[in-house]
Amino acid sequence: MAGARRPLVAGNWKMNGFRSSVAELAKTIEGFDGALAGRIDLLVCPPATLIAEFAERARGSKVAIGAQDCHPKPSGAHTGDLSAEMLRDAGAAAVIVGHSERRADHGESNALVRAKAEAAWRAGLLAIVCVGETRAEREAGRTLAVVAEQLKGSVPDGANPANLVVAYEPVWAIGTGLTPTVSDVAEVHGVIRRELAARLGEAAAGTRVLYGGSVKPENARELLHAGDVDGALVGGASLKAEDFLKIAAAYR
Ligand code: PEP
Repeated sequence: MAGARRPLVAGNWKMNGFRSSVAELAKTIEGFDGALAGRIDLLVCPPATLIAEFAERARGSKVAIGAQDCHPKPSGAHTGDLSAEMLRDAGAAAVIVGHSERRADHGESNALVRAKAEAAWRAGLLAIVCVGETRAEREAGRTLAVVAEQLKGSVPDGANPANLVVAYEPVWAIGTGLTPTVSDVAEVHGVIRRELAARLGEAAAGTRVLYGGSVKPENARELLHAGDVDGALVGGASLKAEDFLKIAAAYR
């Protein structure tokens, strides 16, 4: 069934970028040629300040624009927060929820991540739910249990291939230049697929599971072709169009 899943390469710009960065997005749009665009989906998730401008620039292209977080509620007294509906209104097609930086910096629980994924669906956005173990958890041999528990708690009922993407991102691999072995990635992805199957039945076979954590042009081919990997969530290397496109070219 893996062949039936269309790969997704998603860029998470985190807290980087200004209005002038639209020039970098333009390079990504121009470099994402028809042959590759026929094979994979490409998504850029800039900071919220840039979503509307990026969505405008990407309109009519094969590059979609996403967001990095949302509030569970549609509106209300939540100073500084943005609802999924607002992100959609700004031009986002997807939203990352439960990124490890938000779990760590903002104490986000699985229950909150789940509520955010439900909010994404309410607004018609694709939810990219992130899971992944810390270094201490890996060293304690708890990787598979931790990832399974996060998945169970963070993925709402009603998930299907059109509304859910899971990103496996080992916390210790994010922004460090360290990566798991291909067989470690394949093992965790296998467990994620099995957990999804237990929850979603047949829908699990069509649901994309990305790998994220220090994906670079040099290691993309190896990591993205590890067993059951359906694409990448890319942080640092997504900021430069040239590197981002080289990663996507792993599917050429
Ligand atoms: C991320 O933050 O989702 C990520 C994978 O970052 P990096 O590629 O920089 O490790």
